[in-house]
Amino acid sequence: MTEKKRIRWNWVRSGYCCMCGECCNKHNFLDAPSWRDNTDIQLDKEGYCRWFDRDTRLCLIQKTKPLSCVRFPSHPTDIASFPNCTFKFDKIYESENDDK
Ligand code: SF4
Ligand code: SF4
Repeated sequence: MTEKKRIRWNWVRSGYCCMCGECCNKHNFLDAPSWRDNTDIQLDKEGYCRWFDRDTRLCLIQKTKPLSCVRFPSHPTDIASFPNCTFKFDKIYESENDDK
């Protein structure tokens, strides 16, 4: 009997953060799946993350920022509406019998 191989796919992230700041804006929080449950983010009166410095475009708590920020973006849908994001995702295929 011939063994059937199952194929699954995954995403591999590449690129870097150019600090455009798009993901630190509240309107973008709502677009990015990884952000939606991020209860650690507190917004200022204008709706930006309170830790986002709009002059330098830097995160003011870089070393202690929430895990969702550290891992962001984790899926192509996270950056689907961020045209300036310099991360990209490539789809790869793996067999279930591939070595880990
Ligand atoms: S904590 Fe830092 S990285 Fe996370 S949304 Fe705020 S400014 Fe951006
Ligand atoms: S949108 Fe992408 S490039 Fe821009 S700050 Fe966020 S992670 Fe960095």
